[in-house]
Amino acid sequence: MKMASEAQRQHAEAMLEHETPVIQLVGVSREYASKSGTVRALADASFTIGSGEWVAITGPSGSGKSTLVNLLGCLDTPTSGKLTIDGEEVHAMSSTELDRFRADKIGFVFQQFHLIPYLSALENVMLAQYFHSMTNATDARAALDRVGLADRADHLPSELSGGEQQRVCIARALINDPPILLADEPTGNLDAANQKIVADILRELHAAGHTIVMVTHDPEMAALAQRKIALSHGKVFCHPVKTVVVNLGR
Ligand code: ADP
Ligand code: MG
Repeated sequence: MKMASEAQRQHAEAMLEHETPVIQLVGVSREYASKSGTVRALADASFTIGSGEWVAITGPSGSGKSTLVNLLGCLDTPTSGKLTIDGEEVHAMSSTELDRFRADKIGFVFQQFHLIPYLSALENVMLAQYFHSMTNATDARAALDRVGLADRADHLPSELSGGEQQRVCIARALINDPPILLADEPTGNLDAANQKIVADILRELHAAGHTIVMVTHDPEMAALAQRKIALSHGKVFCHPVKTVVVNLGR
């Protein structure tokens, strides 16, 4: 195990010399203090994600997926190690710097949608612009159009199906044109038909050059990604060979 992680670290450092990855972890750990002692939720992770890659993060419950997503989403910082996102060393940033960085660089899509119930689809998308200190209804409408929801712009979340709500979330994630789309179980609450619609949108975004990092339990969704990063007990296992892209229902 020790040797494997040392090899990973050397691999990550070698990659840095060859290209500029959009995400790079070198020896990243996240530990939590608990009553029964220290929990090492992520242990000495070293890997890179290239610009435009679509990566699936998989692993059983408790393996460290949320811990990793929180770090990649700049919602948390490592206990030790180096985390570089889009050329910036985020492990060294203050929480104010992280807030700003997150708004610029990361678009979030969550399993639970997290839409504001009393705002329309359009206003929910514009809210993400507001945190970015500029709002533009035309851009927000264009983002909804991009996910096929132009005619639902004035609907409240309660007037939309689960699949439509998740598409609003994708529009909201894209509105500031972030380099990284971070999706946590994006189809976890959707039926098969809506899963396919969301999968198709992700496929289009990937084809358009977006970097997508997606946590998923669903093997069909994971198979859409170019590469899997598997977690087990806080340890990272990168699949070195790119998986064949399987089309969902096509
Ligand atoms: P996953 O998302 O894969 O289910 P998590 O990243 O949530 O895994 O958790 C990984 C491990 O870290 C688990 O053992 C979990 O109990 C522990 N853990 C997560 N968050 C905390 C916390 N805030 N305090 C203490 N332990 C935590
Ligand atoms: Mg989790």
